[in-house]
Amino acid sequence: MSPVSATYWGITGYAIFWVLFGVAFVLFARRVYLLIRLVRLGQNENRFGSMFYRIISMLAITFSQWCTLKSVSRKDLAGIFHAVMLWGFGLFAIGYFILIGLWGGFGLSIPFAGSAFERVYLSILDIAGLLVIVAVMATVIKRYIVKPERLEREETTKEKVIMALLFTVMFGLMVLYYGMEGFGYAANNIQVSWPPVGGALASLLTGTGISLATLLVIYKAIWWSNYVILLVALVYTPHSKHLHPVFSPANVLFKALGPKVVIEPIPLEESESFGVSKIPDFTWKQLLDLLACTWCGRCHANCPATISGKSLSPREVILNLKGHLLEAGPGLLPGKAAASPEGKSKAMIGDVVTEEEIWACTTCGACQEVCPVNIEHIRKIIDLRRNLVLSQSKMPESAQLMLRNMQSRGHPWAGVQSLRLRGDWISDLDLKILAEGDTADTLFWVGCTGALVERNVGVTLSLTRVLKAAGVDFAVLGDAETCCGDPARRAGYEFQFQMMAEQNIETFKSHNIKEIVTSCPHCYNTIKNEYPQYGGDFKVVHYTQLIADLIGQGKLKLTNELNSVLTYHDPCYLGRYSNVYLEPRRILHAIPEAKLAEMERSRNKGFCCGGGGGLMWIEEQPGTTKINQIRTEDVLKTGADTVVTACPYCLQMFEESIEHQNIKDSLKARDLVELVEAAMKQS
Ligand code: SF4
Ligand code: SF4
Repeated sequence: MSPVSATYWGITGYAIFWVLFGVAFVLFARRVYLLIRLVRLGQNENRFGSMFYRIISMLAITFSQWCTLKSVSRKDLAGIFHAVMLWGFGLFAIGYFILIGLWGGFGLSIPFAGSAFERVYLSILDIAGLLVIVAVMATVIKRYIVKPERLEREETTKEKVIMALLFTVMFGLMVLYYGMEGFGYAANNIQVSWPPVGGALASLLTGTGISLATLLVIYKAIWWSNYVILLVALVYTPHSKHLHPVFSPANVLFKALGPKVVIEPIPLEESESFGVSKIPDFTWKQLLDLLACTWCGRCHANCPATISGKSLSPREVILNLKGHLLEAGPGLLPGKAAASPEGKSKAMIGDVVTEEEIWACTTCGACQEVCPVNIEHIRKIIDLRRNLVLSQSKMPESAQLMLRNMQSRGHPWAGVQSLRLRGDWISDLDLKILAEGDTADTLFWVGCTGALVERNVGVTLSLTRVLKAAGVDFAVLGDAETCCGDPARRAGYEFQFQMMAEQNIETFKSHNIKEIVTSCPHCYNTIKNEYPQYGGDFKVVHYTQLIADLIGQGKLKLTNELNSVLTYHDPCYLGRYSNVYLEPRRILHAIPEAKLAEMERSRNKGFCCGGGGGLMWIEEQPGTTKINQIRTEDVLKTGADTVVTACPYCLQMFEESIEHQNIKDSLKARDLVELVEAAMKQS
């Protein structure tokens, strides 16, 4: 007999069942509706294209995560425990639906009651329950005793109590289930061997001599307790940090489909304020991001700013913004905005996210790469920078200098570099320099650093000689080249970026350029992925892609032995941003007697050099470890005598760190093309 079919204080169990369910469901739906309204406070953004692909991709990603195949931390087995709990509770949800919902709520007889199928299903639940108990205990040990770095954070007492309660409830639900099963069988005088736990408990209880009436009362008490706890969990979930099961699949559904890191343009003429300083300045997708966070801490554990002791943690940025949305957002809803509660609460820039955090990001993309629910951290940070720079005229002094240089000289460099002309490196080289009216199919886009900084000019010359030796027909812009705009955009100075982007696109079009070869991954990303926002659609290749092709076609032959142990540092903007991992390695493998020793953090898990996001020119926070020094430690662990990269910023960061650590004799920093040239020369 179902406990629902009994009468309690003159009220039928069915009435109690449905009233409790109705109240819980209304509270759950009300909260979810409020959260959806908060998301809708954001600006419009079109993330609805290719919906069929989006749905399939979301299902595949979600399912693979449930199966621990993607984006789970295998180092601390978190994904396995998470999956056991998820699938275990999934099986229980089906069981509860049948046992509590159909059998209890509707009083339906279960078609397979007493059948072999029922025995098998209940036995599976028994085993799943044991696995869930083990997983919960392991998670508790991991969280409170092992404490992986990614989960370390300062929690309020309330958060700690809630977390402890959550584990108790998960554990308790399993215990209650076994109690429900055992007391149910014993009260109904049923002896079974399967399901094993319930069956064993029932025979134990029968042997105690407790009367059937007492067993029945306890059975009913457990049944109702179990039901009430489930309903409380339903109501509490969207109030808790565990609301991510509701919002993270939606966030994956609406993820960016184009380039991995999207920086949207802002309509400068139409805007009165720029960037983001209030909740409604974000787009709805950016607000959805906040609700989707699972608190997994992977971004925190992989962020070079966090690791080097800066005040920035991408996890905390997201969680603090989420807290702000939940606190101040309801007051901004239509009909409630009278007293501008957001203004009355905290200031988004300053109280919720500090300026130090905003300026500490190298835009390396490590956070986005590991985030299991496709949260876009970088765009938010850039939007916050845009507000600081464009609306508040606030930025670090070093950033001001860099931006002033971009305005006055067309490049971000100061010092001796500023005394050079952009085309000086060409000197008496026999190169085609495009004059007004000239056309060319292939343009070698040198970039500010490659054209002006002495160490990098050497790399530019190497690349020029290699391309000429391979018979590549290309032209350069010489003094007419200017900055691609990347440092201005990453620093939030969108005016300058848009101006440079439009000017460069105009230049490319005027020379009828079809293909652009870059040596700098930042130029590569900007011209390839961001110029199309302004109508500049060109074929863009990084030199590593071109040289790998030339070697493959036999147009470049690498014959000289290098006799060196090399390690390759993946530049963030070439690797994570653009997925160019294979070509540089193919080139290295083609060099005779060059042994490649990979760093532990390589390819998409590569660690930033510290120079991206405008930080090449912006001071790192004083009193913290320099990011390039941490990366040099990674290099030294491989035993390599040379660190190779394919980015002018990375090369400079390594040179500086090697100098600083005084290890010039044991470690050299080289650009990949310098090795290619050395391997080409005849001995
Ligand atoms: S982009 Fe890099 S530096 Fe910035 S928050 Fe993400 S991981 Fe940290
Ligand atoms: S932002 Fe993503 S990676 Fe970071 S804690 Fe949240 S879910 Fe995890």
